[in-house]
Amino acid sequence: MTYVHIEHITAQEILDSRGKPTIEVEISGGGYTAKAAVPSGKSTGVNEAVELRDEDGGVSCVLKTIESEITPKLIGTEFASQKEIDTLLRGIDGIENFSRIGANSALPISIGALRLAAMQRGMELSDHIADVAGMQKSKQAPRLYVNVINGGAHADFRLPFQEYMIVPEHESVHDAYAYIVKAIEILGELIEERYGNVPLGDEGGYSFVSEMIEEPFELVSLAIEKAGGNAHIAIDVAASAFFEGGGYRVNGERMTKKALGGLYEKLVQAFPLKSIEDPFEEHDAESFTALHAAFPDILIVGDDFTVTDPERIAEVAKREAANAVIIKPNQIGTVSDTLEAIAVAHDVGWKTIISHRSGETLDTFIADLAVGTGAYAMKAGSPLQDVRRVKYERLLEIVG
Ligand code: PEP
Ligand code: MG
Repeated sequence: MTYVHIEHITAQEILDSRGKPTIEVEISGGGYTAKAAVPSGKSTGVNEAVELRDEDGGVSCVLKTIESEITPKLIGTEFASQKEIDTLLRGIDGIENFSRIGANSALPISIGALRLAAMQRGMELSDHIADVAGMQKSKQAPRLYVNVINGGAHADFRLPFQEYMIVPEHESVHDAYAYIVKAIEILGELIEERYGNVPLGDEGGYSFVSEMIEEPFELVSLAIEKAGGNAHIAIDVAASAFFEGGGYRVNGERMTKKALGGLYEKLVQAFPLKSIEDPFEEHDAESFTALHAAFPDILIVGDDFTVTDPERIAEVAKREAANAVIIKPNQIGTVSDTLEAIAVAHDVGWKTIISHRSGETLDTFIADLAVGTGAYAMKAGSPLQDVRRVKYERLLEIVG
């Protein structure tokens, strides 16, 4: 049976939320047209699939690859499954990490074909994803991991950690979103009282300078309380970004990994902190394991550490070095590989958090992916930025 019939592909350059060029494709067939755009990370893991660019940062080399190498192989070909398309894309690259054609050429094609297939089958994208993945859409909508304060590489290290997030615990995702909007407004007022007008970081979170590691936690806890409670804090430490010469540099001071572990212990005791992403640099599995053993009830989340790679996720699970994982399709390069990473994570009993990138577009694919795979959460930044807000709105639309 034909999975998708592709008649036409065009690719163009668009700008992401940081004003950097990226790729958008349009794939059509059978009277339908699907679009897909690829985001771009800044604090990337060393083992991520490769994002190719021209020497000056442009993407004309990627546009050329799509036109001359990918399009001729897809048009008019009968595909029986998403896997067949994605295997073909891998074959065109010929190297494991997409370093020849770039994950930024493969992923928009892969997502565009998935969307077109859903249209041709007359299915909702999230239902189609569940079907392709052989997964159950969960009855409960994904939780929201919402960035409210930005630091680290996303805000010139004005604060040491990259992301301070609020995770509402409301049953209804509509209630959770309404709560978040209120909490962000309250937090904005609290920050303005102390710091005046502050800039927003790459993902739309407030960004101020503070030497006190606890201060963002105090402010977020207060905003949670004032907005009515029923939420907790998650952080993305993105520790590889401040790992130097065998130690960590936090607010200008050097810290051993043991001291950093001790800091997490204090923070967990003092604040409603329940989820810690990339707490140590991406090669230090031992420290991840120790932290997970010390706090079995806290989510220890891999991102740079696991890079949406099924084999890495299985390996990290064996070492008991995490219990949750960030899923970013462009870290691995195709829809099929992303679905496999999610399947492996669910098999080992981990929570999956479907994530945007810091350089985003208006594409809302991650919302459908989160619902279609029954993910634990969706992490999409602050709704103060349009490219993030549309993803939350798409999620609300899907769950109805
Ligand atoms: C992250 O680290 O989780 C993130 C979204 O940032 P980036 O896209 O820069 O990797
Ligand atoms: Mg991260």
